Amino acid sequence: MALRRDVGNRVPAAPARTSAAAAASYLHPYACFRCRRSFKRASTTAAVLTCPRCAGPAIGLTRKFKPPPHDDLKQWAKVEALVRHGFLFWSLDEPYPETLAEVPAFAARHADHLGRMRKAMPQAFVAIEAAKNRPPV
Ligand SMILES: [Zn+2]
Repeated sequence: MALRRDVGNRVPAAPARTSAAAAASYLHPYACFRCRRSFKRASTTAAVLTCPRCAGPAIGLTRKFKPPPHDDLKQWAKVEALVRHGFLFWSLDEPYPETLAEVPAFAARHADHLGRMRKAMPQAFVAIEAAKNRPPV
């Protein structure tokens, strides 16, 4: 694991960072599946925020999440399927699936982890479940 992190394309923090850049590094992505867009907000405990574009629910994900291009329907469908399973893009011991078809087997392999995360952050999952079931506006 350490090895994989080391070869990633993370840029080491430069000593002369501005405070704005430092603050930006603590922004977390929120994904809106209706708009197929994500936006970033400062670190918060809110599991779900209101999408600034459509006022629908936007699910908070980890900074590991990289949003697909807006018009990449297949990749957004995959991301939504992962979130519906409960994956919020934590680091796991294998890469996240490349395709929607790989999601069910991936979810089965990580069912124990999902169960632990649901127990560890029950309020977040209550908010996420409510958001997923919210009817379209
Ligand atoms: Zn939206």
